[in-house]
Amino acid sequence: MDADLVVVGSGFFGLTIAERVARELGRKVVVIDRRDHVGGNAYSEDDPETGIEVHRYGAHLFHTSNETVWEYVNRFTTFTGYQHRVYTNHAGVVYPLPINLGTINQFFSAAYSPDEARAVIAEQAGEFDTASAANLEEKAISLIGRPLYEAFIRDYTAKQWQTDPTQLPAEIITRLPVRYTYDNRYFNDTHEGLPTQGYTRWLENMADHPNIEVRLGVDFFDADQPVSKASTVGQVPVVYTGAVDRYFDYAEGELSWRTLDFEREVLPTGDFQGTSVMNYPDSQYPYTRIHEFRHFHPERTSYPDDKTVIMREFSRFAERTDEPYYPVNTDADRERLLAYRTLTEGEQDVFFGGRLGTYQYLDMHMAIGSALSMFRNQVGPLLGA
Ligand code: FAD
Ligand code: UDP
Repeated sequence: MDADLVVVGSGFFGLTIAERVARELGRKVVVIDRRDHVGGNAYSEDDPETGIEVHRYGAHLFHTSNETVWEYVNRFTTFTGYQHRVYTNHAGVVYPLPINLGTINQFFSAAYSPDEARAVIAEQAGEFDTASAANLEEKAISLIGRPLYEAFIRDYTAKQWQTDPTQLPAEIITRLPVRYTYDNRYFNDTHEGLPTQGYTRWLENMADHPNIEVRLGVDFFDADQPVSKASTVGQVPVVYTGAVDRYFDYAEGELSWRTLDFEREVLPTGDFQGTSVMNYPDSQYPYTRIHEFRHFHPERTSYPDDKTVIMREFSRFAERTDEPYYPVNTDADRERLLAYRTLTEGEQDVFFGGRLGTYQYLDMHMAIGSALSMFRNQVGPLLGA
């Protein structure tokens, strides 16, 4: 094979490595992906009926405070000024998230000042001490009090994790912000926006270089095709961004993941819910949230005003044949991961990266940032940088 590097997986991690090796080092890269499109989970497509851009694997919002990553991604796309905000429908009333002074005042039909709201929540949260909270339920109650927990968190969390919140680790909820202002921006990062011409154009621009050859519909573990594990490892350096347990044929056991099911629908209205994401925390709804894609791009005048695309999101444990989305990270998973890390160290010139290759939830900017580091510290030097 005429390549200096094989990259398995065309998500943000794989494409960042490929782009750097091709452009910066002038070396030849073959990128394979078992799917029929580039881009991994960030891939988006125009809905055929409405032309509305749909994120096939779940809504993707780009945000970063990393200046190196921001400078890098702007080489391939410009960004709109989109700022993400989420609302939640509890008992037939819509509230802003993350929980903020607006949510609190609406929930208690009050006009508390920030100090008054702090005092009220502190009183309701007194049941548990944050530092010694033993599980997700205790931790959440210690942060926001029982009434808000039961309204917005308890049943949503049970739906999302299919586990009673008293059985879940407290850390899941540690990042739950509570703001005593009316600020309801979802992200705190310096930079935020959506790719002006869509995710797929951005991803294709990264792969658009004469030294990069992309082969789609190719599974690395299919020994009958020319760019397989059998034909490359030991022959040419490989950057592998598929699942680490699969690479070793599950020798140390399977790592557990949650997957999502998406139910997409075109509705005969110009606006279904007035915003891009509405959460459904109550147990009577089987889904966790509904996305309405037109609201990610209010600047696009080409979208029809009599049709809209929505997507309901359902969460469940992944079987081996499902798409893995979020690492579950039980104690058993962590032990297995350590065993797999030891195995990866024994693989000469195979570099494991990305969310599947490292069994880590990575936001896009983190996947890109860690690929840039791998290029700088490992892959680049190996290829003569
Ligand atoms: P992936 O995108 O998963 O790419 C891996 C690729 O490897 C895939 O294309 C796969 O087909 C391929 N592959 C796997 N095995 C093989 C094989 N055997 N042979 C050939 N190819 C193979 N990030 C944000 O910053 N903001 C968000 O709002 C956001 N929302 C998200 C919502 C959901 C539901 C999910 C799951 C993730 C979200 N992310 C978000 C994270 C984002 O998707 C990741 O940062 C990004 O996908 C990481 O890229 P990656 O290259 O590591 O992995
Ligand atoms: N969460 C919740 N209610 C909500 C939103 C989030 O209880 O309306 C909890 C839930 O336990 C979830 C965690 O907060 O797992 C993290 O939420 P986030 O929306 O960040 O999850 P993601 O987008 O990663 O699925």
